[in-house]
Amino acid sequence: MNTRVNVKNGDQLSILGFGCMRFPTKGNSIDEPRAIAMIRDSIAKGVNYFDTAYIYHGGKSESLLGQALLGGYREKVKIATKLPPFMVNKLDNAKKIMATQLERLQTNYIDYYLLHMLTDKPMFDRLVSLGVLEWLEQLKKEGTVKNIGFSFHGKKTDFEDIVQAYPWDFCQIQYNYLDENNQATKSGLLLAASLGIPVIVMEPLRGGKLVNNLPEKVIKTFQSYDKHRTPAEWALRWVWNHPEVTVLLSGMSTEEQIADNIRIASETEANSLSEEERKVFAKVKEVMMEKTKVPCTACAYCMPCPAGVDIPGCFSSYNDKYLLNDKSARWKYMQTLGALSVKPAYASMCKECGKCEKHCPQNIEIRKELRTVSKEMEGILYKPIVSVARKFLKIK
Ligand code: SF4
Ligand code: SF4
Repeated sequence: MNTRVNVKNGDQLSILGFGCMRFPTKGNSIDEPRAIAMIRDSIAKGVNYFDTAYIYHGGKSESLLGQALLGGYREKVKIATKLPPFMVNKLDNAKKIMATQLERLQTNYIDYYLLHMLTDKPMFDRLVSLGVLEWLEQLKKEGTVKNIGFSFHGKKTDFEDIVQAYPWDFCQIQYNYLDENNQATKSGLLLAASLGIPVIVMEPLRGGKLVNNLPEKVIKTFQSYDKHRTPAEWALRWVWNHPEVTVLLSGMSTEEQIADNIRIASETEANSLSEEERKVFAKVKEVMMEKTKVPCTACAYCMPCPAGVDIPGCFSSYNDKYLLNDKSARWKYMQTLGALSVKPAYASMCKECGKCEKHCPQNIEIRKELRTVSKEMEGILYKPIVSVARKFLKIK
């Protein structure tokens, strides 16, 4: 496992961090024995950075990680977890959340503590006005929090405002070969680095979109260089090629993903992409951008929708239609979001309340896009067909 040094505090961090938002599941719950075994196995192979959050897996991710780190593992790793700003209206809320997090994680200190999903400077200012930063600084003096940072989903200019507004110990951004010019962007990454702020990268595979659902043309472009390298490997190598990136987070759900990622992390150095490999990426980006309609990463921060719409599901089906040139996309859309679901969740169920848009890190105009999805994926015959199919299949 390759490591990089946190330039701010000297921590030697594995370049692969374990994102704890996509543990394997059994039914609706985390498959605990399997997830614990995966965490411990990855530690044995050199992973020492674990990124969770108060809200991941409906609050169960922190508890699972705490459990997995019992028996001597805690001291071998750095835990990163996050404060959800939307749940903090007064300082007391933040204090209670922190107390719960320490309890769930079964620890008395958090190595890397982030303000979760800042999207603009007013959001940061609000937390400052509530005394959150002052309180975190106090916790840092006491040793309960070792490093104060933030994760970001928003526009480049907002990132620039926030990253320069406070002497951060680290920050976390979405970055991958499709998002070089999206959100914090490459210039944001370079700005953070120039300020001496270590950068943790999330969404290196854009919520799996850079692995699954790739157009044939993209796969062929990758294969034209190397038949054995997977799209995931290409994407990870692209991120690690940046020396400004300290840790890349991967939300790993299977043992195979862990084994693959660890192998790649052991082989990949900064500034190692050849000119030929860069050309492959340029071609791939061209093809992908032509075909992606809605830049949804399936993070599900917009969920649940009070009207029952599966927002990421709708966008995923819609995007797949173009990314994959999938002729059966409309049928799959009907199957998964309407006709054969116990709870229908298709786009035209949207009541336009706007609640979801406040939470979208990609700043997607969800209502407008859902109208388009409805128009393109449903059409006028959709509801009658859904109704007949449901009756036929005896679905209430
Ligand atoms: S705007 Fe539509 S999709 Fe968004 S939360 Fe409201 S009903 Fe759901
Ligand atoms: S619409 Fe936005 S918040 Fe919802 S899943 Fe997609 S990216 Fe995430």
